[in-house]
Amino acid sequence: MTKYVYMFSEGNATMRNLLGGKGANLAEMTGLGLPVPRGFTITTEACTRYYEDNESIAPEIEAEIFETLAKAEDMIGKKFGDPNDPYLVSVRSGSRASMPGMMDTILNLGLNDTVVEGLAKLTDNPRFAYDSYRRFIAMFGDVVMEVEKSLFEEELDAVKADRGAKLDTDLDADAMKEVVDRYKALYARVKGESFPQDPREQLMAAVKAVFRSWNNERANVYRRMNDIPGSWGTAVNIQEMVYGNMDNTSGTGVAFTRDPSTGENKLYGEFLMNAQGEDVVAGIRTPQTIDQLKDVMPDVYQQFTEIAEKLERHYRDMQDMEFTIERGKLFMLQTRNGKRTAAAALKVAVDLVEEGMITKEEALMKIDPKQLDALLHPTFVPAALKSAQSIAKGLPASPGAATGRVYFDASTATEASERGEKVILVRVETSPEDIQGMNVSQGILTGRGGMTSHAAVVARGMGKCCVSGCSELSIREKDGYFTTEDGTRFNEGDWISLDGSTGLIYAGAIDTQDASLSGDFDMIMKWSDDVRVLKIRTNADTVRDAAMAIKLGAEGIGLCRTEHMFFEADRIFAFRQMIVAKTVEARRAALEKLLPMQKEDFIGLFETMQGYPVTIRFLDPPLHEFLPHEDAEINELAGELKISAADLKTLINDLHELNPMMGHRGCRLAVTYPEIAEMQTRAVIEAAIEVNKKGQNIIPEIMIPLICDVKELKFVKNIVVKTADKIIADSGVKLEYHVGTMIEIPRAALTADEIAAEADFFSFGTNDLTQMTYGLSRDDAGKILESYYQNKIFESDPTARLDLVGVGKLMKIASQDGRSVKKDLKLGICGEHGGDPSSIAYCHELGFNYVSCSPFRVPIARLAAAQAAISGADNLGQK
Ligand code: ADP
Ligand code: MG
Ligand code: MG
Repeated sequence: MTKYVYMFSEGNATMRNLLGGKGANLAEMTGLGLPVPRGFTITTEACTRYYEDNESIAPEIEAEIFETLAKAEDMIGKKFGDPNDPYLVSVRSGSRASMPGMMDTILNLGLNDTVVEGLAKLTDNPRFAYDSYRRFIAMFGDVVMEVEKSLFEEELDAVKADRGAKLDTDLDADAMKEVVDRYKALYARVKGESFPQDPREQLMAAVKAVFRSWNNERANVYRRMNDIPGSWGTAVNIQEMVYGNMDNTSGTGVAFTRDPSTGENKLYGEFLMNAQGEDVVAGIRTPQTIDQLKDVMPDVYQQFTEIAEKLERHYRDMQDMEFTIERGKLFMLQTRNGKRTAAAALKVAVDLVEEGMITKEEALMKIDPKQLDALLHPTFVPAALKSAQSIAKGLPASPGAATGRVYFDASTATEASERGEKVILVRVETSPEDIQGMNVSQGILTGRGGMTSHAAVVARGMGKCCVSGCSELSIREKDGYFTTEDGTRFNEGDWISLDGSTGLIYAGAIDTQDASLSGDFDMIMKWSDDVRVLKIRTNADTVRDAAMAIKLGAEGIGLCRTEHMFFEADRIFAFRQMIVAKTVEARRAALEKLLPMQKEDFIGLFETMQGYPVTIRFLDPPLHEFLPHEDAEINELAGELKISAADLKTLINDLHELNPMMGHRGCRLAVTYPEIAEMQTRAVIEAAIEVNKKGQNIIPEIMIPLICDVKELKFVKNIVVKTADKIIADSGVKLEYHVGTMIEIPRAALTADEIAAEADFFSFGTNDLTQMTYGLSRDDAGKILESYYQNKIFESDPTARLDLVGVGKLMKIASQDGRSVKKDLKLGICGEHGGDPSSIAYCHELGFNYVSCSPFRVPIARLAAAQAAISGADNLGQK
């Protein structure tokens, strides 16, 4: 029989998939002998069962929950629902991957009208008892029964106003009693039934609510953004309560073993006395920094620092911990590997190696390659910053610089971003509903909440600039403006700039500049290069991109799109002359004009790449992409081309295609107009000869796109070889060159053995390969996918990631069949996925020679390739 419930003492950190991250770590800490309130975990499998059983909890699972509860009661010596000495619990969700703020915790469960009286008597502290009860009613009401949180807050505010209290802590027992009464009345009003009094009923309702929350909208959005499958489910932790809200010798806090913004090796965090649960991150009162705990409670501080060190050594990584103090006694409520900025991630990884705690390989595995993006992003241009006017200062919650127009809610921010605007999301505080809006913003600014507030944590995770807790601003979300201390008003759509490293906020837009990289970055890159097997190339069409890529560590160009060169103002005309040419002679004449320009481009690229391989793809898009469609433009162009507008229109109509993705493009152009391929070959070969004469050793790689049959490749290759060999022979110098093809049509993948016979290399164009394998156009997928998400057919855009099941299978077939014919067939990838870590791991597995990605992704690819090599070696070790 499947076991669905585990006591903390039965689990450990390796059981993360079953117990969720929180549960596994609570079990691990219990095993380490740390002061963890006792409890048990209902497994993620129980959540999966809940959905299999039509959103109900099977009787045997319910029975197992209550059996375990009884065991816990025996251990603790308190009974659930016993008014004389009640056992109260928290109900806490926790999935395999940490999903911050996704599912809410319920505290003080087990309280009811009689138990609360008992608790008041027992502790001789009625204020505490009623404070706990009102918190429970609000949390249960909000999380389980969907009574809006703000309604509870209104009641609380009313009582505070009545009594002239500023803070929650100013309310006495009597006031708390009134809050409880009001909450219960509110609950009954909204739900049409009174607040549930049976603790067992409360418990099961809470467990179900956690399971339900796994599937709520914001959890789905978060999972979609983070590639977390819905099938994982969440675990539920039921844990004995400890009370940070008992008195002024009690409190609650959060801390990191190192600074999560910079990585500096010192305890970093916040706490609040006489507080419970999320008070510290919710910004209800301003928390104290963890250092101040030294003065408030020296012994607890000492014990906490020891535990923090122990945990860091145990997990061999920076920890993010939650704790509560009950009447001077410390309890650990959570630990996990802490989220950190990219800069901190690098520093912590390098420091841990230098401290002898981990190996270089382990250090590399700790860094999320995607995070490196943040380091490569801009900061303000110092000169521009000098003349900028700072209007306020908040907390430097997530570093980087951002400039944009202010919007006050997630949906208008999203709309503005869809219009192409740069957006700064300004909120009093953020909640999980805002995630999409945060995602489209350049930066986030909040009026409330500390360095560990929702906005701060989520922004750091996104690698996005954030200034939080800027209390100087008076933010009026509903009215669409904010004012600074001196009364200056900023309306929706006004420009501001944020510095997430200093917390400063500026009026207007400020120019930004590229990042400069730290020594830690260089170190991590060097370690990566030492272990990776894959070469990293870049997709670059210009000298500028190529030079940037080289700086970031590229070892070649995997894709140079020649058509991009034709779009430039001084060339498009010659190119259009080529398109409208009615005879081969006229077309050749136009191509003659293009030849020197294209050759010049290649010389530039070859020189920049300093002998690294350069793959040049022949003309790929359909010709109509180069022609105008508006009447005015057509008339103008007709005049310039000296043809009639009517003729030009006819030509444009003739070129029009219903499905351009599968139309007259790629090698098909070269088949119709061999002279284009001829010109491009001349440009490549002549450029290489010229550069090599100056002492370089370029081996150009000519890539024929959109092959579906080997005969196409043979045909185009024949043009290339004939043209190239003649130029080389005439020049009297030696030049090696390669001709290969893209694999981007499923049929090419399936006939790779035939194609390999004619190709020196395969480069997987996974953008088109994905679209064609799914039969789904990326450009039109949006609307279609909406209903696919709703119906859970897809959880995220399948074309956004490399689909290992289908597209991956084609890649595998093509690689294996290709190499079965030609052992040393060079394999690479040049689609968007070439910079995506999980795709890179797959390319490593298939034995590719290189991946190619956009210049700014090169560092990500270097690290991801190293991680693939390291975990590949691990896999071998286990076999
Ligand atoms: P999240 O995943 O959102 O951080 P948690 O389950 O960690 O939610 O709970 C949030 C907070 O609630 C904890 O940091 C802690 O302060 C408080 N809490 C949870 N369980 C208990 C408990 N058994 N006793 C006291 N406080 C608790
Ligand atoms: Mg939370
Ligand atoms: Mg927590």
